[in-house]
Amino acid sequence: VSKITSNPWNMKDKAAWRQRQVVKRLYADEVLAPLTILASHFDVHQYGALSVNVERYPLLLARTPHWAATKKTILVTGGVHGYETSGVHGAIGMLELLQSPDASHFVREFNFLIAPCVSPWGYETINRWNPSALDPNRSFFADSQAEESRLLLDAMGEYSAEVFAHFDLHETTDTDNTVFRPALAARDGREYAEWEIPDGFYLVGDTMKPEDAFQAAIIARVQNVTHIAPADEQGRIIGEPCTQPGVINYATKKLGLCAGMTDAPFVTTTEVYPDSPNVTPQACIDAQVAAICGGVDFLLQNS
Ligand SMILES: [Zn+2]
Repeated sequence: VSKITSNPWNMKDKAAWRQRQVVKRLYADEVLAPLTILASHFDVHQYGALSVNVERYPLLLARTPHWAATKKTILVTGGVHGYETSGVHGAIGMLELLQSPDASHFVREFNFLIAPCVSPWGYETINRWNPSALDPNRSFFADSQAEESRLLLDAMGEYSAEVFAHFDLHETTDTDNTVFRPALAARDGREYAEWEIPDGFYLVGDTMKPEDAFQAAIIARVQNVTHIAPADEQGRIIGEPCTQPGVINYATKKLGLCAGMTDAPFVTTTEVYPDSPNVTPQACIDAQVAAICGGVDFLLQNS
């Protein structure tokens, strides 16, 4: 099905869209409160704030204690798309795991750098876009107009070269078809083809450095927690050919994706499906944590 829309949005249309957005949940209660507790264990620092409301939307980055230049660094980003709840809570869940004895082998070998909620306005209003109707996950490039992306890129400056692996935590939801892709088509005055929302978890690797064995290790771990998305009749997921079960690749840097923000040799974007009748919110969070653990265990064994 394709739909023809009218002219691309002008500034007034974007402002009207912004006016329609309302706060549906609180960043302070759901994200900042758990991070305040975790700050007793981690080195949590603020790398900026969203200009839409600097008091309400501080941006936080957590580092594991015993940070050492001799260790390789693992980067985890959540909430680049603020509406993708398990990305945010998966990043917080990973911090909770990292302070437990179960993860002592991880922190002995690696530094962890975790930005749990890159787009807090999107988190509160359950949006893919930022307040300027820009998609932060198409905006990771120099001089980006999306401040969520630009501020994180700036904060990463000193770490970028050291990042060994990057896990960017996302979801693919039914609202992608019902709300967000139609809005994108309307904003840009374009047609769009509806695609099947895959029922299950999948990964997006990087076309330039697919690291198939790394991705396979993540899928193997996640399938203990939630089901993996099957390919469609053409062997595709969201229109891209699968390179192996549950894995597609994108040109992350070229597209301005968060996963392309560093030169890390190992990168992946997780895509949890929260709308399946077979999953719970907690299972989605557990799938995000399992994905990181599966990937990090692979790196421990193979590097
Ligand atoms: Zn996303």
